Amino acid sequence: MYAQVIVDLSAEAVDRLFTYAVPGNMDLAPGMLVQVPFGPRRLDGFVVSLSETCDLDPERVKPILGLSRPEPVVLPDLMELAEWMHLRYLCNLVDALRLMIPAEMRGGRVRELTRRFVRLNLTDAELAAIEEKYRRAPKQLEILRLLQEGDLPAARLDASALKALEKKGAVTVYDEEQRRKPLALAGEARTKDPELMPEQRAAAARLTAALEGGGGRFLLHGVTGSGKTEVYIRLIRRALELGRTAIVLVPEIALTPQMVSWFHGRFGGDAAVLHSALSAGERFDEWRRIRSGGARVVIGARSAVFAPLQNIGAIIVDEEHESTYQSDHRPRYDAREVAWKRAAQHGAVLLLGSATPAISTYMRAMPGVRPENRLELIELRRRVKGRPLPEVEVVDMRGELERGNHSLFSARLSGELRRCLDGGHQAMLFINRRGHSTFVSCRACGYVVRCDQCDVSMTWHQAENALRCHYCGKTLPPPKQCPQCGSGYIKYFGAGTQKVQEEVRRLFPDARVARMDVDTTREKDAHARILERFRSGDANVLVGTQMIAKGLDFPNVALVGVVAADMSLNLPDYRSVERTFQLITQVAGRAGRAEVPGRVVVQTYDPDHYCIQMAAAQDYRAFYTRESAHRRAALHPPFTVIARIVFSAKAPEDAKAAAESAAEQLGEFLDARDMRRDAVQLCAAEAPIKLLRGEARWQLFLKMYFKADMEAVAGRMQALADAAPEGVRAELEINPSNLF
Ligand code: ADP
Ligand code: ZN
Ligand code: ZN
Repeated sequence: MYAQVIVDLSAEAVDRLFTYAVPGNMDLAPGMLVQVPFGPRRLDGFVVSLSETCDLDPERVKPILGLSRPEPVVLPDLMELAEWMHLRYLCNLVDALRLMIPAEMRGGRVRELTRRFVRLNLTDAELAAIEEKYRRAPKQLEILRLLQEGDLPAARLDASALKALEKKGAVTVYDEEQRRKPLALAGEARTKDPELMPEQRAAAARLTAALEGGGGRFLLHGVTGSGKTEVYIRLIRRALELGRTAIVLVPEIALTPQMVSWFHGRFGGDAAVLHSALSAGERFDEWRRIRSGGARVVIGARSAVFAPLQNIGAIIVDEEHESTYQSDHRPRYDAREVAWKRAAQHGAVLLLGSATPAISTYMRAMPGVRPENRLELIELRRRVKGRPLPEVEVVDMRGELERGNHSLFSARLSGELRRCLDGGHQAMLFINRRGHSTFVSCRACGYVVRCDQCDVSMTWHQAENALRCHYCGKTLPPPKQCPQCGSGYIKYFGAGTQKVQEEVRRLFPDARVARMDVDTTREKDAHARILERFRSGDANVLVGTQMIAKGLDFPNVALVGVVAADMSLNLPDYRSVERTFQLITQVAGRAGRAEVPGRVVVQTYDPDHYCIQMAAAQDYRAFYTRESAHRRAALHPPFTVIARIVFSAKAPEDAKAAAESAAEQLGEFLDARDMRRDAVQLCAAEAPIKLLRGEARWQLFLKMYFKADMEAVAGRMQALADAAPEGVRAELEINPSNLF
């Protein structure tokens, strides 16, 4: 027997099948992880297929050295999925295969955790006589007495006495596997399903009918607080009843501990979590629990779409508009797309859910879309129990300055916050830091302190009194004088979470403020601790970045303040308006989710912008209509496809030359295929961030109509990237989630 193996080495040159001989006694199957000799090394490899014969000289075929795991680790459907990804995302097959198993399983860096236990091995008759028999070995006697109550861990017993007993056959020592259980799955009693609201019931009925009828693809568009989670749960229940399994993807597990505990509460031991913040052992144990059928509902971040479940009935993507579903390193896959493919493999229901679907997703739910691309729209227009959506008020901050208010908070927001705290309620204050932060600038000449490695403004961190670059991590002491004009008026500008927190403390000494941002959440489980402080009422004001915009459900929140709504509106990215709309709508949706009615104050310098207006009205449909018309006119995606190759090099002229040469070659390729007309834009230019970690960045930028043969173009672009000259790094990105 011979095995065709992909070795666990990510390089273009070795991304092909290598043949090895299967030793006679080895029970091998496709999908297994094995160890193989590779040159002088011993590497892991994935068995792709088996054959009786081989074309090579048998003398030269080396044997497989051993099995890394006793069972196949990549199931057949996942093997097929990896091959699909290899073609779709132009990645090495091994890069796709690596996503299918816990990282530490490769190279055997993690294994089962076992503990030794001791069991009593005596008959009743023998037991009756132990006092007599062991009179002169009191330690052994004590152990025997303890064991009569039940088995005990060996570590707790006297080692030499235990050894003596084992030798006599009085006890048996055995290993038992210990499950390393993620914190998120600790405690929590099983809770019951509430009765559904009419809209929820209709949604669940439609979805379960599809499940029973062989699958389908849906977009669940439900306003914030409409109870989408409950609909997911009903769909999953039905899937389990039918003997099938389910995957629930969430944007970031750490930010949604509530979601995990709800699922755990409903599905108990059937629920498993998979995400990167687990310890290696936890992830390995959860993965095996899923693989063996011990857990049938998987909740996790992006890569949980590869969970080794069989017979999947439903794949749910919650908050589907989040950019975290797109991987920003190789393989650059989109988990929603993979979910689409995997659902099709299993005849499962694909369900994308959001209060603010991505423009590109919603478009697929509109009439006129071809059946193979279509999503069926299901809407939840009302909050549960007839609760109203929160009232949103837009405050023009320009007026505040004229009135002499230099605080971060408008009179309106301060007033509402006072009322909220006096009423014993809680408030959330949101500051959007994407693309903007507390940069340091000179009030005399306008000089901004930028990172000399990355060409982005540096952020002031009060705790260390240092400037830090959020791209490369470089820190600098804050300047006392402007390096450009010498003025001493060089100040911290804009509002960060810290500043908001201080402002609350200054204006409301009685407030108990918690803060959630990158700085306060570096430690493991920090998110959960901060959210718990707020949930329990220990804190009554929660200040945070987009981290607090997602999915949180706190019944006592009466006020949400959006401190500066338009900070991200003017970034050089065609999605900045869409993202601002999503953020404001989502964060506003955190207010008034239970009995306490909600109020939202949105502060902005651009109160007439349609994005702010429509987010305040929480009118997704109006926003979609306006924004998609704009995209169509401006030829932005999803009406076109954006692809680019970023060339980075120490010397700017190298990056430039590589980009220009690639652009020329791509132009020739398009001409030869008569596709030039389909290209809206093809150019070589400096990337929006010209310098990153000390390297100059140029890009080949391509915007193309959809109808073009994008696969051929992408293939050509990948070849151009692979052919980048020595000393130049090249990365191909198709519809990248960020254009910096
Ligand atoms: P969404 O994700 O749509 O914003 P959630 O799923 O978080 O909404 O639900 C909002 C709140 O309403 C949660 O506290 C949830 O437990 C509650 N809820 C959902 N459905 C029902 C129902 N049918 N009856 C009572 N409460 C419900
Ligand atoms: Zn200056
Ligand atoms: Zn930097």
